[in-house]
Amino acid sequence: MEIAETSPSTMQAAPSLDTTPVNENNFDFVRKLPENIAWLNEISANFYWCWRPEGVALFRDLDPELWDKCEQNPRLMLKRISGLRLWQRSADQAYVARVERFYSEFCDYTAAASDLTTPPAIAYFCAEYGVHNSLPNYSGGLGILAGDHLKSASDLNVPLMAIGLLYRYGYFRQQISHEGWQKESYNDIFESELALTPVLDAAGERVMVSVKIRGREVFAQAWRARVGRISLYLLDTNLGRNSEVDRLITGHLYGGDTETRIVQEKVLGMGGVRLLRKLGVDPAVYHLNEGHAAFSTLELSREFLESHPDGTFADAAEAVREKCVFTTHTPVAAGNDVFPTATLSECFSSEFIGSLKLTQNEFLALGRADLSDNSEGFGMSPLAIRMCRSANGVSEKHGEVSRQLWLKMFPDLADAGAVPITSVTNGVHAPTWIAPVFQDLYDSRIGPDWQTIVRDPAGWAAAAERLSDSDIWTAHRTLKSLLIAFIRERTKTKDTGSKDTINEHEDTRQLFSPDILTIGFARRVAAYKRWDLLFTDLERLLRMVDDAERPVQFVFAGKAHPQDNTAKTILQKLMSINHDSNWQRRAVFIEDYDQEIARYLVHGVDVWMNVPRRPMEASGTSGMKAAMNGALNFSVLDGWWIEGFNEINGFAIGGLDADDNDDVMDAADAEALYRTLENEIIPTYYGTGDSGLPAEWIARMRNSIATLTPQFSSDRMVADYLSNIYNLAERSA
Ligand SMILES: *Cc1c(COP(=O)(O)O)cnc(C)c1O
Repeated sequence: MEIAETSPSTMQAAPSLDTTPVNENNFDFVRKLPENIAWLNEISANFYWCWRPEGVALFRDLDPELWDKCEQNPRLMLKRISGLRLWQRSADQAYVARVERFYSEFCDYTAAASDLTTPPAIAYFCAEYGVHNSLPNYSGGLGILAGDHLKSASDLNVPLMAIGLLYRYGYFRQQISHEGWQKESYNDIFESELALTPVLDAAGERVMVSVKIRGREVFAQAWRARVGRISLYLLDTNLGRNSEVDRLITGHLYGGDTETRIVQEKVLGMGGVRLLRKLGVDPAVYHLNEGHAAFSTLELSREFLESHPDGTFADAAEAVREKCVFTTHTPVAAGNDVFPTATLSECFSSEFIGSLKLTQNEFLALGRADLSDNSEGFGMSPLAIRMCRSANGVSEKHGEVSRQLWLKMFPDLADAGAVPITSVTNGVHAPTWIAPVFQDLYDSRIGPDWQTIVRDPAGWAAAAERLSDSDIWTAHRTLKSLLIAFIRERTKTKDTGSKDTINEHEDTRQLFSPDILTIGFARRVAAYKRWDLLFTDLERLLRMVDDAERPVQFVFAGKAHPQDNTAKTILQKLMSINHDSNWQRRAVFIEDYDQEIARYLVHGVDVWMNVPRRPMEASGTSGMKAAMNGALNFSVLDGWWIEGFNEINGFAIGGLDADDNDDVMDAADAEALYRTLENEIIPTYYGTGDSGLPAEWIARMRNSIATLTPQFSSDRMVADYLSNIYNLAERSA
């Protein structure tokens, strides 16, 4: 089938500011721009701009204030920007030349895209994608990892396409009340303001798939986002032809009850496979990134049996396994989706189960880790492990933990070492996460091809030696000042004078100093992340914060899951630390953690702290982002940091051994945390020599940039998936 699209470059009439959702087959949103900068429309339709500093700058420089008001959404900005601004830029020859240059670079880049209708191609499935804030379709680490996977696949020109869901309300937005309690709200999205186009067939009709849910055919339309050379297809049930409740299937990300979760995952897994067929794509590899998409293996089995009427389910499973690979992201059983069998049974008709040539019991057994335990719920990870030829964790340690966790699925194996689960350590997309200031520095000191050099660890390490102490320190100081300005701006609305919570201040201009050692801590608020470890001995902590000569300041950010009251209480405790000390102007909590905030933080802090309870951090990725910007990681040895830490490029909290008793472990880690701060981090940071620069600190920063950037870039990760997991060469026949 031929897939046409609405062309974003056709110049339509200026849109009205009406923000009602677009009607089906009415997708007329393109702003009429002055002709010499009209390429901006096309540039905004592909997320490529968001990982090129010049792409970001082009939109920001159109109208910097509006850019932040529109939360860095170029589509929204082009809709709202005044005619006067547009014509001012149109009359600015230097600006026009920049648009032309970037557009030409963009065209060269996208022209080389792989042809996905020619196998072997990879279909990547994930429940969330964090490509950029302007597509609010992610909650945290998993989504951002998936976004980074697509960006690196694009840069490396891997023949990959991605499938997900379009959440009408996305993930919640966070505010903290005067009582320190988290409040949630949801924004509606308007497709016309997002860089999405409806997928149309040759006749110009929207491409639809349907999945049977609650006895009804539920329809989903497909939207396409372009991530450089990669297409990301998002399914959306918010259609007039669906019933009100079915329209909400793709309503909230991780918001609904168990049944909603199951039906969401049916749309993702089964609907996703059906969409590929409508697109005329028959991938050689299906990559299920986390268990959410594991129902795709059932749809593939059903397809197999439809075309092999004499086959058995075992035959189908064998064929499906050949095509599917699975990545698990959770190190604990509770983190995996496990559905009550009664609810699951209600969501799959006996007709569907019959089409798989399975009995009800055989069907339910597909989701059991222990086949002898009939009381077990239906787990998406056991289903995926059973139906995929390969399963992997996301760090070496997590691979080991996963082999242990799923040993019970392999009763014939003597020990966990033999469980067929490998690992590919996560990475982050360097051009997305390295500050433009550092990218400029690399352009001038290393060369404009630094992005290629960084794929070679030895070459990169040698190149990093060309960065002088003052290069690194000047870039870092600039970014730190930027972070402080951002903190003051963001907390201004909380300038209440009450000082009741740590983000209420008398005068935000008193907040933070660029001369003080700054420690960042931002992540999901969940018990195992141990947000409260830092406060084990408050007096000892405040002695450091208040020190006259060598003080410390802290910046925090993170969301608690709306239904997790334990986490919300942890957050409230942090917010309520109210002390007659410098705490109130040296500690701040930034609300509504997202990618934009993460960028300011990982660019500007001196130290990035992470204290999960071992071995609960499957990998962790924010520390990789910080490391690439020269921040020193200060983390317990878990997940990626076990592989990254070399004693120079950061600091470890505690050792590799874990104690089974949480209290013992917490006390030991708190002691190690304070001791390392007092004896190592603070003295080194403030240890300036004759040059006036902290030479040892800067040497560690250089080492962090040199050693960790290549090892934890998503280019390395995607290359590992290609050579160790996808194995396309064997599948091109
Ligand atoms: C990178 C990132 C995460 C994941 O960080 P972890 O270290 O894995 O917890 C979560 N949220 C945002 C906004 C991020 O940028």
